Amino acid sequence: MNVWLNGHILPLEKAHISPLDRGFLFGDGIYEVVRFFDRTGMAMDAHMRRLERSLQLTHITGFNARDLPSLCEQLLQAENLRDACVYLQITRGVAATRAHMPPEHIQPTVFAMAHAYGALDTLTTAAPISLSIQPDLRWHRCDIKSTSLLGSILPMLDGRAHHADEAILIRDGFVSEGSSSNIFVVRGNKVATAPINTDPSILHGTMRTLAIDAAKQLGFDVSIRPIEESELAAADEIWVTSSGRVLASCVSLNGNMFGTGKPAKMACAVINCMRLAVENLLVKTP
Ligand code: PMP
Repeated sequence: MNVWLNGHILPLEKAHISPLDRGFLFGDGIYEVVRFFDRTGMAMDAHMRRLERSLQLTHITGFNARDLPSLCEQLLQAENLRDACVYLQITRGVAATRAHMPPEHIQPTVFAMAHAYGALDTLTTAAPISLSIQPDLRWHRCDIKSTSLLGSILPMLDGRAHHADEAILIRDGFVSEGSSSNIFVVRGNKVATAPINTDPSILHGTMRTLAIDAAKQLGFDVSIRPIEESELAAADEIWVTSSGRVLASCVSLNGNMFGTGKPAKMACAVINCMRLAVENLLVKTP
C-alpha cells in the first residue's frame, strides 16, 4: 500500500512520523474523508471549504486546502483505485519538546491514504445500520474536524453491548449528531435534521447537505431544527449520513429491531436520488 506523506507518495512501511509529532502527543490535528466514485470526489468543494475552515480555526498553517483534489488524484492513481475513500490528516507538526504551546514556526505533517470502497451501483439501496443512543461527551467545537476523537470512540464502545455500529449522541436532551455521522429523523413525510449554523457542536457534514437536497427534490417536507431525544423512539425512519456510508438506514435501535428491520423506503429513495446526482456529475467529468 502506498501513502502520501509530506509531499511524497511512498510505501506504507517507509512512511515514518516522529513520536514528537503533535498529532501523536496531543491529537493536535485535523482531518478529512472524501468518497470517490469512478475517481470523482463527492462534494469536493464542500470538503475543501471544510478543510480550509478547520485549518483556520486551529491556526494550522502550511497546507493549502485547494491542493486536496490533486493530492487525492495522485494517491488514487498510485493505488490504482477508482471507487475509494481518501483519508487526509494534517497535524500541527513536530516540535522539539512536548509543550502545550506550539513553537511559532512549525511545519505541518500531512498524511493521506486511500482504501477501496463500493462502486456507485452499491447506492441503489441504503445500507442497514444498528444504532445506540449515548450521551454526547465531546467538546463544544465539533464543527472543527479534529483528530482528537476519544469523545466519539467512547460512546461507540458503550454501544457495543447493543451490537451498534454507530452511536446517536445526545446533548441536553437533543440529538446532536452521530459519533461519525449526521442524523436525520423521519416521521410520515416529514424529515428533520439538526441545524449546523447555530450550533458548533455539530460537524458540517458534506453528505448531510446532499441528503437534504435529495429529500427536497423528492418532495419530502425537510426541516432543519433541533431534534428531541424522544423523537427517536417515535420515528418511522432514522438515517445516518457520512462520506463513508453515504446514507444508511437504522434497522436496530439500542438492541431492539427498528421499523421493519430492513432499510426503510424513504431512505432508499433518497440514496437513489443521490446516486443519480453523482451519475450526472460523472457524465459531465469524463
Ligand atoms: N459528524 C461527525 C462527527 C463525523 O465524524 C462525520 C464524518 N466525518 C460526519 C458528521 C459526516 O460528515 P461527512 O458527511 O462530510 O462525511
